[in-house]
Amino acid sequence: MVDQRMPEVAVWLRSTIEGDKAAAEAIGAGVWTVAKAGRAELDELAILDDGRPIIDSGWEGGGVYDADVAHHIALHDPRDTIARCEAELAELDRHQPNFAGDCTRCDQVAPCEAVVIKARGYRHRPGWKDWEPHTGQERKP
Ligand SMILES: [Zn+2]
Repeated sequence: MVDQRMPEVAVWLRSTIEGDKAAAEAIGAGVWTVAKAGRAELDELAILDDGRPIIDSGWEGGGVYDADVAHHIALHDPRDTIARCEAELAELDRHQPNFAGDCTRCDQVAPCEAVVIKARGYRHRPGWKDWEPHTGQERKP
């Protein structure tokens, strides 16, 4: 059940972060690394989790050719995603509205700026709106 005092942006942000965390947990708390793929004639890179291929070469391709892309993928491995999500959820817990509708951390009318700014980090996700701090209304262009 959703707390009726909870601003829409906070509900949406918590749900989005919890979804990311659940997706990362579902595939395990792996540590991904980048290695040369098995087919030596290609410059493909594989993403490995404790030696097991996550993204590897195959007859139809599927490996990663761009080292920057491979390192970017490995940098956002499940272990990193879970840790980031836990930290963000803990920070959200600190910015709850109190009985009067003010943030318990910032003493600003909820949603406080901290929650709105954090939500902007997920602005390419479905359901994101350009919420206004303090009113929780969507900004008009
Ligand atoms: Zn706050």
